[in-house]
Amino acid sequence: MPNAKRPFVDFRLVRARITMEQVLAHYSLLDTFKRSGSRLSGPCPIHGGSNPSQFRVDTDKNLWNCFSDCKCGGNVLDFIAKKEDISIHAAALNACEWFGISFEEVASDKSNGQREKPEERPAKDASLTIPKPAAPRPAPKPEDNQPNPPLKFRLEKLQRDHPYLTEERGLSQETIIDFGLGYFTGDKGLMIGRVAIPIHNFKGEVVAYAGRWPGEPSDKATPKYKLPPGFKKGQELFNLDRAIQEPADRPLVIVEGFFDAIQLHQHGYRKVVALMGSTMTAAQEVLLRQNTSSQSLVLVMLDEDDAGREGREDIACRLSKFCFVKTYVFENEGMQPEHLSAEEVAQLFGGVS
Ligand SMILES: [Zn+2]
Repeated sequence: MPNAKRPFVDFRLVRARITMEQVLAHYSLLDTFKRSGSRLSGPCPIHGGSNPSQFRVDTDKNLWNCFSDCKCGGNVLDFIAKKEDISIHAAALNACEWFGISFEEVASDKSNGQREKPEERPAKDASLTIPKPAAPRPAPKPEDNQPNPPLKFRLEKLQRDHPYLTEERGLSQETIIDFGLGYFTGDKGLMIGRVAIPIHNFKGEVVAYAGRWPGEPSDKATPKYKLPPGFKKGQELFNLDRAIQEPADRPLVIVEGFFDAIQLHQHGYRKVVALMGSTMTAAQEVLLRQNTSSQSLVLVMLDEDDAGREGREDIACRLSKFCFVKTYVFENEGMQPEHLSAEEVAQLFGGVS
């Protein structure tokens, strides 16, 4: 039960007042880190590792991540909580003390005491904090969990040798046919003027076609991708039906986009699924859980940009609860898995193929 004498504090207000650098300085840890722009890297102070690249801090966002034993990350309060092995609430109170923040400034009243809840992970410590028990995430509407029904038709009139596929994307005929891609030459429906990409469910049934505009749309009103109305892409993982046919001892690679998966496949690495975005939905997490074991290795390889990095950390954290997870960090900003050459893919996965 919460101790009535302990002040309730608004975590968000506390977090806004302190930086990761201050926290590391408090622990006299700053010297153990190497700085590169807004990134600090060093051995993990939580699990006490020694590898100088296992623990990273983004000093702009005040987030940290341990890619080694902890396989986890978080904000300043998560760090203190993990380091001290205490609740987030206790971490917030400590932080107030250490950094001279008065409780009044960060007090949480009934009206704002729950503001934290949408992004705060549920704390394990029952002595937490919030006046009322943190409300669970809003339950998804029942229909959101309904699987996408298999399509009853197949698109015909698909031009397989359209230059967007062969030249711009550099795909071979074999890959194009393998994935069922093609420029829609029909004159009705959502796919007009677009390259159709069939999306299969885990059983291999086509549940939708994504329509990719060939190239950069010239006006903002034209979306790069179109999906059928009512289709829930968050219920699917692109290419999962085939990735699960690959040997169990190979890592399952998770990428963002269709063409990341298609390119890796073309370069010979076929155990790859695409999120169709930079975040992992709960349904996708369930699919991954169902198709991995505690011995499985998953490699999270998202785009090297802000959204990708954020997604990468969140996904690694969530998947590490039920399988081995590695994250792939590209050297250069803006890199994506589809930019990897065949040689690079072979190098990356040669050892395990
Ligand atoms: Zn660690």
